[in-house]
Amino acid sequence: MVHLSTVAKESHARRRQREQRDKEASAVSPYVYGTRYAIEELPEHVMREEEMPASVVYRMIKDELSLDGNPLLNLASFVTTYMEDEVQQLMSDAMSKNFIDYEQYPQTAHIQNRCVNMIAGLLHAPTANEPRNEQDAIGTSTVGSSEAIMLAMLAMKKRWQNRRKAAGKDWSRPNIIMNSAVQVCWEKAARYFEVEEKYVYCTDARYVIDPKEAVDLVDENTVGICAILGTTYTGQYEDVKGINELLLQRNIDCPIHVDAASGGFVVPFVRPELVWDFRLEKVISINVSGHKYGLVYPGVGWVFWRAPEYLPRELIFNINYLGAEQASFTLNFSKGAPHIIGQYYQLIRLGKHGYRAIMTNLTQIADHLAAELAKMGFIIMSEGGGRGLPLVAYRFPEQEDRLYDEFALAHVLRRRGWVIPAYTMAPKSNQLKMMRIVLREDFSMHRCNLLVEDIRLAIKSLEEMDASLIERYSHYVQTHASRGPEGHPVYSNEQHSLQGQTGKTHAVC
Ligand SMILES: *Cc1c(COP(=O)(O)O)cnc(C)c1O
Repeated sequence: MVHLSTVAKESHARRRQREQRDKEASAVSPYVYGTRYAIEELPEHVMREEEMPASVVYRMIKDELSLDGNPLLNLASFVTTYMEDEVQQLMSDAMSKNFIDYEQYPQTAHIQNRCVNMIAGLLHAPTANEPRNEQDAIGTSTVGSSEAIMLAMLAMKKRWQNRRKAAGKDWSRPNIIMNSAVQVCWEKAARYFEVEEKYVYCTDARYVIDPKEAVDLVDENTVGICAILGTTYTGQYEDVKGINELLLQRNIDCPIHVDAASGGFVVPFVRPELVWDFRLEKVISINVSGHKYGLVYPGVGWVFWRAPEYLPRELIFNINYLGAEQASFTLNFSKGAPHIIGQYYQLIRLGKHGYRAIMTNLTQIADHLAAELAKMGFIIMSEGGGRGLPLVAYRFPEQEDRLYDEFALAHVLRRRGWVIPAYTMAPKSNQLKMMRIVLREDFSMHRCNLLVEDIRLAIKSLEEMDASLIERYSHYVQTHASRGPEGHPVYSNEQHSLQGQTGKTHAVC
C-alpha cells in the first residue's frame, strides 16, 4: 500500500510538472516574437536538451532563410525554380515515400519506368518494341546528372576492364577524354573511380571540344569520350556527330557518352534535326538533368544506355518487388519519391507540344537579350537561334580605359537582387572573364526587359565611380562577394581541380 501510494504521488508530481510545462509551452506558442526565443540566439552548433514550440521554430527558420537569394532572380543556374501548384501538391503528398521501397510503393516504381521510357524515346534509344513496353529502355532515375555521370563512368570503366581482362591485357590504367570545360562532376567521377583525365583544352576562340584532338587522344586505355550537349560556360553543343564520324572513319573502337544535362530537354524540341543522340552508333550512354530543362525542382536526373551490353551485369543489383525483381543501379539506396512523380507530371502535363512551346519561347527571349547586350557593346560568346542552350554568355570588349570588369558589374546587379555570375573561362583560354545569364522557364520577355534596363543602370553607376572606388570595389567582390559558409580550413584553398586552378567563381550549375 505504502509503496503504491509513493508511486502514485510521484506520478502525480510528475504529471503536475508536465502540465506546468505544457501550460508554459502553450502560453508561449501563440505569439512568436513575444516569447523568450525571440531574444535568445537559436541553437547553432550544439544540440540543446529541451524542445522548442513548432510555431517558433517554423518562424525563426523561415525568417533566417529570407536572407537566401530569391530563386526567381537567380539567373546563374539551370535548375528549375517554378512548378505548377497541382504538381507541388502531388510532390508534397509523396514526401514521405521512399523511392527504393518498390514493394511498398509499386506505382512510384512504375512511374519511374514510364519516365525512363518516355525520355529514352526523346533520345532515340533503340527499341525492339513498338510501342515501347515497361522493360524496354535501359536507364534509371538519379539524384541529378552528377550521379548519372558517376554511373555512366563506372559502366564505361567496367566494360573496358572486362574486355581487357578477357583479352589478357593490362587493365590498370583507364582514361577518359573530355573538354576542359566539363562540369566539375566529371572531375569528381574521374577521381572517385580512378580514371585518368585526358583533356582537350579550350582556347580563347574555341570553347567546345575539338573532335579531331579528342579522337587523336584515344589510346588502348581509353574507356570513352565525353561530349557535352550544352557546355556550362557558353551553352554550346559539342560536335558529337563529328566525333562519331571520326571514330568510324578511323575504325576506332571507343564509345561516346553524351552529357546532355541541360541540352537533353532542349535540343529535341528546338533543333530536332541535330543528330547527337542514340542515332549515332558510337553513343552508348546519355545523361540528362530532370531538374534543369526537364522542368522539375532540384533532385532528379536520368541516365540511359543504348543496350544491355554497355551496362555490365555486375553493376546491377536486383531488388525484389512484389515477387518480381526490379533492377537497381544507383550510388545510394533510399531517396525521396516526389521528384520522380514531379517528372512524370511534367512529361504528361506538357507533352511534346508544351516543352516545345517553352523551349522556343526561351530561345527567342535569349536572342532578344543577346541583341540588347550587343547594343550595349558587350561581346556575345554564346550562340543564338537555338544553336546553343537558351543562355547568353557575354563579356566586355577589350578596352584599356574601362576601370571596371565583369565581376564589378555582377556585384552592382546583386544589389538589385539579380544573381548573374561573373567567372573566368576554362583553363588555357587566356583567363577570359565572362558573365552568363541562364534563361529558365519563368524568364518572360517582360522580366528580360526589366533586367536589360537594370544592366544599363548598373553600367551607368559604374561609369560614375572613380578609379580608387572601383578598385576597392572589385577587390571586395573577388574576395568577399559570397556569403556562403567557408570551407573547413583543412580543405580550403583547393588546387587540384580545373576550377581550383583557374578560380572560376560560384555555382556554375
Ligand atoms: C548541371 C550539369 C551537370 C551536373 O548536373 P547536376 O544535375 O547538377 O548534378 C553536369 N554536366 C553539365 C553539362 C551540367 O550542365
